[in-house]
Amino acid sequence: MSAVPVRLAGAPPRETGEAPTSGPLVDRFGRVHRDLRVSLTDRCSLRCTYCMPEQGNEWLAKQSILDRDEIVRIARIAADHGITTFRLTGGEPLLRRDIVAVVEEIARIEGPEGPVRVAMTTNGIGLDRVLPALVDAGLTRLNISIDTIRADRFRDLTRRDRLDDVFAGIRAAAASPLRPLKLNAVAMRGVNDDELVDLVQFALDHDAEMRFIEQMPLDASHTWDRSQMVTREEILAALSERWSLTPVPGRGGAPAESWRLDGSGRTVGVIASVTAPFCGDCDRLRLTADGQLRNCLFSHREFDLVPVLRGGGSDADIERVLRACIWKKLPGHAINDPGFLQPGRGMNAIGG
Ligand code: SAM
Ligand code: SF4
Repeated sequence: MSAVPVRLAGAPPRETGEAPTSGPLVDRFGRVHRDLRVSLTDRCSLRCTYCMPEQGNEWLAKQSILDRDEIVRIARIAADHGITTFRLTGGEPLLRRDIVAVVEEIARIEGPEGPVRVAMTTNGIGLDRVLPALVDAGLTRLNISIDTIRADRFRDLTRRDRLDDVFAGIRAAAASPLRPLKLNAVAMRGVNDDELVDLVQFALDHDAEMRFIEQMPLDASHTWDRSQMVTREEILAALSERWSLTPVPGRGGAPAESWRLDGSGRTVGVIASVTAPFCGDCDRLRLTADGQLRNCLFSHREFDLVPVLRGGGSDADIERVLRACIWKKLPGHAINDPGFLQPGRGMNAIGG
């Protein structure tokens, strides 16, 4: 497949020069960054085939994992300079023992435009027990991942027999005030591509929006194969057999495109990172659990905050690392280029 052109909004690139020292968190292409994905751990209660190996994963060293004060400090500085949304992820964020306190302390942060938003992406295991506390702590949005609603497939795909726990988490989320509630599935050929309509119906039954993700080359085992990826077009074709799909305008910087189902208020989303990249509108930055800033899922370069955090650096020093990382962002992820190289970290260690 030939490279997909990346549409870039804003000013033409300034290839040289240093990052600005004030103003919004902007890159060389004029993309203003407002969203920080914070990975709280690389550990997980599941072993999804497209993300982690079954065994032999090299875990981050315990002492390298940022503690709550370090995470909240980075979040406060990022919010001071324009980050408005923090998405907690991992690995599995609910495995973090201090998860409620992390949410509570980030949710208290006021940016120049008011209180920040705190969202979470989770596999849903254990969510039913902790959700009321998370809502009280200030959590504003939830995305729950569920690739199949069939127990045997779930076991094969995640290498764990925990589908009932995920269902319990989704039921709790449906009963909570958090809306919109989103369910995510990676669409995979021969694995769950005959289940797309059922998954949408399952989401509707839980007052949620189903979103299908094109599989990306981010598995720790480096086994991604384009032919196994179910494309945006195939997903839409399968759903069109059941519903008429009307595009929802006004996507902004969101990764998902949405469609109305039969003209109703209910919607379905597709995140087509491979066949229809949205890099031109990307406003996202990532912080790994061990304190590395990344300007893209597919980046080969990380900006290390640990020496600054643990070496007595000032808030201004942290701001400088944030700005430098964003400034070096490339125009696009280049998955479709012949010379594409998968990053060394798997998705669980980057933070999805
Ligand atoms: N454990 C949590 C979960 O599964 O929701 C949060 C972390 S997980 C890495 C975040 C999201 O990344 C999930 O929706 C997962 O399906 C997605 N993901 C993981 N590996 C992926 C891959 N290779 N391609 C596309 N999406 C992937
Ligand atoms: Fe765990 Fe999420 Fe990766 Fe699945 S996708 S192995 S639930 S981190």
